[in-house]
Amino acid sequence: MIDAHIHLEQYEVRMLPAQIDKWQEAGVKGIIAVSNDLPSSYRTLELRDTFPNFVHAAVGFHPEQPLPVEQDFLEWTRLVQSERKKLVAIGEIGLPHYNLEKLPYSIEHYWEFLSRCLQVAVQHQLPVALHAVHDKAEMVFDLLKQKQVATAHFHWLKAPENVVKKIVDAGYYISVTPEVCYRTRDQKLAKQVPLSQLLIETDGPWPYEGEFKNQPTTPLFLEKIRNQLATLYGMNEHKMQEQLVLNTHRCYQEIKSTLT
Ligand SMILES: [Zn+2]
Repeated sequence: MIDAHIHLEQYEVRMLPAQIDKWQEAGVKGIIAVSNDLPSSYRTLELRDTFPNFVHAAVGFHPEQPLPVEQDFLEWTRLVQSERKKLVAIGEIGLPHYNLEKLPYSIEHYWEFLSRCLQVAVQHQLPVALHAVHDKAEMVFDLLKQKQVATAHFHWLKAPENVVKKIVDAGYYISVTPEVCYRTRDQKLAKQVPLSQLLIETDGPWPYEGEFKNQPTTPLFLEKIRNQLATLYGMNEHKMQEQLVLNTHRCYQEIKSTLT
């Protein structure tokens, strides 16, 4: 199994070697580690160097926060350039939704900034890991088409059915989180996504409810997501796992881990 979206740099670093051992013993073959800003991009790359066979790095600016200063963005573009070989994606990027009212910038500013990030992804032929939910999903989709972004992953998507259809028809990927185990909305979404475009993720360390309540979020949750999807699709768990791993490899083409 591969966690298609996790904020590894937010976990306690000194605990990681033992934790990663445990995750690997449980059958987790790798993770896509996303970043939230410039310092976080550096930390993700460091983790990638420490665990090169397990951590696949993505660098970006999370949209639910103030926009970075220009100097940080330019330094980040140079980082992408110099570390290109160590990257599997640009992300997490997207448009703010939950914090938009509280943020000191308008959606147009974020749209403009996202457009520049997508430009970097296209220039380096990297897929993008997207935070684009509810009515922002369609805005981001339109921008992807405009920028001719070839490969995109809409992480933890929540969007109207017609927008999900557009995303799927364009060949982009969609992931579900542990919420799919206990929330009808996510189960409905999972069934709307063709099996070949579905990914699983934890978005760790984000906390969950249901059977995951009061438990620290780790890639150990992936097994339950896989089992839930196997039930939803009426498939055997092993076959479901193979398909999900294959999809993650297709989306994040530069992952080097084995196909199991
Ligand atoms: Zn995230």
